Amino acid sequence: MGQEDKFAFVEAFLEGRSRQQTRRSLQGVVPLDAVHVQKQGKTLVNFSANDYLGLSKHPVLIAAAQDYTQRYGTGATASRLVTGSFDIHQQLEAALAADCGREAALLFNSGFQANVTVLGALLDRHALVLCDRLVHSSLLNGALASRATLTRYRHNDHEHLESLLRQAVNQRYSRVVIVSETVFSMDGDRADVDRLVHLAQTYGAILYLDEAHAIGVLGAGGMGLAMGNPGVDLAMGTLGKAFGAFGAFLVCSARLRDYLINACPGFIYTTALPPSVIGAIAAALKLMPSLEGDRQRLTRHAETLRNQLRAAGFDTGPSSTHIIPIMLGEAERALSLAQWLETQGILAAAIRPPTVPQGTARLRLALSSQHTRQHLGSLIGALRNGHGQRH
Ligand SMILES: *Cc1c(COP(=O)(O)O)cnc(C)c1O
Repeated sequence: MGQEDKFAFVEAFLEGRSRQQTRRSLQGVVPLDAVHVQKQGKTLVNFSANDYLGLSKHPVLIAAAQDYTQRYGTGATASRLVTGSFDIHQQLEAALAADCGREAALLFNSGFQANVTVLGALLDRHALVLCDRLVHSSLLNGALASRATLTRYRHNDHEHLESLLRQAVNQRYSRVVIVSETVFSMDGDRADVDRLVHLAQTYGAILYLDEAHAIGVLGAGGMGLAMGNPGVDLAMGTLGKAFGAFGAFLVCSARLRDYLINACPGFIYTTALPPSVIGAIAAALKLMPSLEGDRQRLTRHAETLRNQLRAAGFDTGPSSTHIIPIMLGEAERALSLAQWLETQGILAAAIRPPTVPQGTARLRLALSSQHTRQHLGSLIGALRNGHGQRH
């Protein structure tokens, strides 16, 4: 094989993506404040970030990140099990567990990493993992890498899930793990947590829930829909979305935490989160109870926007949260509407396969409590005009 041929697969892959209008590239932006970015010199209102409470620009988080850096340095300098477990890591874990009303919490360097490595530690090749069809790539990757038997149940269809659990009873699986999100990242709908807990308990299954888009936004004190529920064996929350920082954490029993510290390569063999990030997370956690007004505003904004979008003839799918898709079908339609919005000063990313199933390309609108009525008004106005132009 000649030198020039060895990357033929790269060429073929990229050409395929181009043909299907699903080839992606990085778009540089400069953040200006909680809801504005600059892109190629133009100021845009951002409806695609996951900064649901605008905390990434909050002065208290910035001050805490600076203070922790001043006192502890810029890096953790080692993995947690070596010498990277500072008092600030331990205190933050204790505070996260206490605020969720759970026995234990464990930090991870990202939500993606937590999902892959924790599922890997829970599953083996004799296990069965039952995933909602729409779970995030990181959860699927964890399930696939474990070589467990993977079955995907129809989205939020708990009867389908129950029939799979019933069938599993007579098989000789080492264990059964149910995996779902509590708020689905691309549809903005919710799982029925009580129902999942009931099914897990009835069939002796382990329940793993991903709260990436609920933590900070929904539930008592903004601490999610599942974190505080003792029937949820493991709940994962990301800290780079509503918490405005970076990283992720898991709540579970003390015994499970102990197990994971010993069994998760993605926890063991990586440098601990840096002090600046720990400071920002700790500050966000302290602020959480006081942000009830922000969470209510976010909910009201979402209701208003959904109603206006539906009135204008858009399909907002099953959304019942601050994540609102505009379902468009073909990738090309989603792209052209996103491009039109950009000319109108609005950033709303087109989400295409393989992130979402074929034929369900969409704009994913993610609201922030820092958006104003004016921001929503210009979004609706631009969408109405764009709609008329046959995107
Ligand atoms: C964003 C996201 C993750 C990954 O979290 P990161 O901290 O960004 O790596 C995991 N699960 C879901 C559902 C997500 O939306």
